[in-house]
Amino acid sequence: MSLESLRPARAIYRPRLGSITLAILSALYFMIFANRTFWARAYSYFDSHLALAAFGLGLTCLFCALIVTLSVKYLLKPVLVFLLISAAAASWFMDGFGTVIDVDMIRNAAQTTPAEAGHLMTPGFLLHMLVWGLLPSLLVCWVVIEHRRFLSKFGWNLLTIALLLLLALACAVSASRSIAAVTRMHKDLMLTLNPLLPIGSAAVFALASEADKNIVAKPLGTDARVAGPSPSGKPRVLIIVTGETARAENFSLGGYARETNPELAKLDITYFPQTSSCGTATAVSVPCMFSNLTRANYSHRGGLANENLLDVLGHAGVKTEWWDNNTGSKGVAERTVYKSFSDANDPRYCVKNECLDEGMVAQLEGWLANVKQDSVLVIHQLGSHGPAYSQRHPPAFTRFTPECTNSELGSCKPEDIVNAYDNTILYTDHILASVINILKAHQGGIEPAMIYMSDHGESLGEHGLYLHGAPYIVAPSQQTHVPFVLWQGPGMKSAIDPACVSARAAEPASHDNLFHTALGVMNVTTSVYESKLDVLASCRKGAGS
Ligand SMILES: [Zn+2]
Repeated sequence: MSLESLRPARAIYRPRLGSITLAILSALYFMIFANRTFWARAYSYFDSHLALAAFGLGLTCLFCALIVTLSVKYLLKPVLVFLLISAAAASWFMDGFGTVIDVDMIRNAAQTTPAEAGHLMTPGFLLHMLVWGLLPSLLVCWVVIEHRRFLSKFGWNLLTIALLLLLALACAVSASRSIAAVTRMHKDLMLTLNPLLPIGSAAVFALASEADKNIVAKPLGTDARVAGPSPSGKPRVLIIVTGETARAENFSLGGYARETNPELAKLDITYFPQTSSCGTATAVSVPCMFSNLTRANYSHRGGLANENLLDVLGHAGVKTEWWDNNTGSKGVAERTVYKSFSDANDPRYCVKNECLDEGMVAQLEGWLANVKQDSVLVIHQLGSHGPAYSQRHPPAFTRFTPECTNSELGSCKPEDIVNAYDNTILYTDHILASVINILKAHQGGIEPAMIYMSDHGESLGEHGLYLHGAPYIVAPSQQTHVPFVLWQGPGMKSAIDPACVSARAAEPASHDNLFHTALGVMNVTTSVYESKLDVLASCRKGAGS
């Protein structure tokens, strides 16, 4: 054996590629392998295959031009690795769950808890990241990029970019009418372009949240007063249960064929079957429903810049408190007494900071025993939060079987996902009935009422969508049609015309009604109260006469 053969190889073989070639190959990789959802939608939206081809080629040219622009020494590889990892993560959620990763979705993700995020980090996700994120990144790192000398590179890059842009322009012009029609009619299409749109959304979110830090909420309804004590003289107590991810479609109170509301059905409640949410995600819906801004006028910034229902109640001298078993109050309880149940991690109800909603109900008796004045308590449930539906209820509520116990919903049968979800609705039914029954038990000392509204619905595989957070403009009804339940104790109820409430409940309602209905229930007058948005205003005895 010669000495030569014992020596280690001088260098591992590394393929060499010109920077422009690598940029173009990468752009093609993204367009072909990371955009399944985008192409599936584009295919169904375009009538003409020729127009679709022009649209696809034009976009690919633009993407190539962008990457060639970034093909600078020491910059190209990190940029490509970043794009590859981002594209892999985004394609998992877009292709698997039908998720659109817009600014609201990024905000939701940024506010999620480690426990919630943990449910999404499934073995399937990790394998997907390995195959579509890590492996191509290693390939990029392996390649030796040949960069030309500065001036020559500058000239070649400029020429390539110019040619690509010209080709993109020719494509756009050749099918301009079809492209304009499709992108205008189907606003969701461009939102699924991976990874440019998810990265763009993340950048917009980062810039906006920096600016959000300096926003101070403007006082609202500082003229608020309780118009008068309750006729019995007992303090009024309103409990607002803000639900999580419960969709109206699966409430038997609204006609769902399965008995998912057996306990509420036995109570003297009013159900509003035509209620729509403000948003399709917690981070939008929760601040919107407590704001006096209607859905038409609400914006994330507008919500932050103005005080909300709890502040107005505070100005009126009503005691307010927020109990949270979710991911926080989204700024609503900023100036209110706030108690987190998931942080407390009570072992009777919690496993690793994820708690059953009963933990909050268990403390209600003690809280009510100390009520001395008009009070509003918000209970922010974990409700039906997915994808781990089977973990949202105790075993006693596993009534619809078999239920999907896997967070990777795609690996479960559709009917098993619905079973697991319906069990969470059964449990919420029990939670709400428990709240009402506890209030009833205390009505000797208080005038109680309860309002329940879910923050948004959930997709369980309809139209290929799972979970929630679709842009409102294209969101299916499963994500925006929410349950709304109202219960009032006999004292408050005696001042209301029951036939009128039944008639009102048959009309459409929305999150816009919460702010004003709660003020009405608490008999608070203020210049920011609008009786037309209070679902009970026209039904109060003496109203309109
Ligand atoms: Zn939510």
